[in-house]
Amino acid sequence: MWKGRPTWAEIDLDALAHNVGEIRKAVGQDTGVMAVVKANAYGHGAVPISRAVIAAGASRLGVACVDEGIELRQAGIKAPILVMGYVPIWEAGALVQYGLVPTITSRELGKALSELASRSKFILPVHVKVDTGLSRFGLSPADTIAMVAYLRNLPGVTIEGLWTHFASADEADKSFTLRQFAAFSALANLCPDIPCRHVGASAVALDLPAMGLNLVRAGISLYGLYPSSEVSHAIYLKPVLSLKSRIGRLTSLSIGDAVSYGRTWVATGPTRVALVPCGYADGLRRSLSNKGAVLIAGHRAPILGRVCMDQFVADVTGIPNVKVDDEVVLIGRQGAEEISVEEMASWSDTINYEIVCGISARVPRIYLRNGQIDEAVTLVKKTG
Ligand SMILES: *Cc1c(COP(=O)(O)O)cnc(C)c1O
Repeated sequence: MWKGRPTWAEIDLDALAHNVGEIRKAVGQDTGVMAVVKANAYGHGAVPISRAVIAAGASRLGVACVDEGIELRQAGIKAPILVMGYVPIWEAGALVQYGLVPTITSRELGKALSELASRSKFILPVHVKVDTGLSRFGLSPADTIAMVAYLRNLPGVTIEGLWTHFASADEADKSFTLRQFAAFSALANLCPDIPCRHVGASAVALDLPAMGLNLVRAGISLYGLYPSSEVSHAIYLKPVLSLKSRIGRLTSLSIGDAVSYGRTWVATGPTRVALVPCGYADGLRRSLSNKGAVLIAGHRAPILGRVCMDQFVADVTGIPNVKVDDEVVLIGRQGAEEISVEEMASWSDTINYEIVCGISARVPRIYLRNGQIDEAVTLVKKTG
């Protein structure tokens, strides 16, 4: 039993390994899996997740920014790490120092990296990103050709990868994805010597595995969640994260008593309520105020009144045998009931991605193997 802060996330490393295995099977042996561990591994904890996915057969890691890469290197992780997002010129030194593979979108960055890497007698692999229709990041196809020619003549860097990202691969209608793929393929054919081509995220791994090319960049699927309701659910993924808490106080309300800031919920009859020490600073969205529910003693207990920064109140009227310190499940299973990340996302009008990414550093992450605690990461290092 977890005896730390009574609000925590359980991370099932066996489910994670299962998901990596299913994704590898789906894309086949010739396609590697880059585990996307940006945003603290979608809230699951970047360092323990990175170690576990590499052990389960992922060959690379993907992050959004340089700091995320440094965090992994400082933890001793040696796998190739691609920084998928924009890197300003002043972070070039850190890329070389920590051996992080950048996505190059300017000559200035290429030149700075070339000079730094040459000086340290090092050859830095780099990837070039082409924008084929997302209109977010990357070079136009024409500029990509020019960039590849430019980088080829620079010492200290080698073009390892060419990639793009799809705008709507998670929708049932794949016509725009096919157009983007055709544009990418035409360009890739002009640079046949670039060894690592990649276009797909989880939606491609699930729906279009033949488009995996050399690598899929799998994020949400690693964590056992599907990129949307429209992609195939034929591959069985297991949710990795549960969010739990414990009852901190039980009290009885009478008609007319109101709950929480603004008195937005008012009892219309005798009501038994439980205090739950988890709030929007932990990632439980404030838009769940007077919406949604949590699981207590295998029953759904509605959220009453406003969700506060650190706590909220749930209605346990009629649920038998409820005691202080009983487990509260915010995401996950309890008995026969389950609240999925998707259900919680629907209550706050968002997507599963945003819910898990939003679980804050204050929430301890408890890593389970075979149902036993393997590691716990908390805000504070426990002494004694
Ligand atoms: C976040 C991200 C991914 C992972 O996407 P999922 O849908 O979570 O699999 C892949 N590629 C890029 C460029 C990303 O930013």
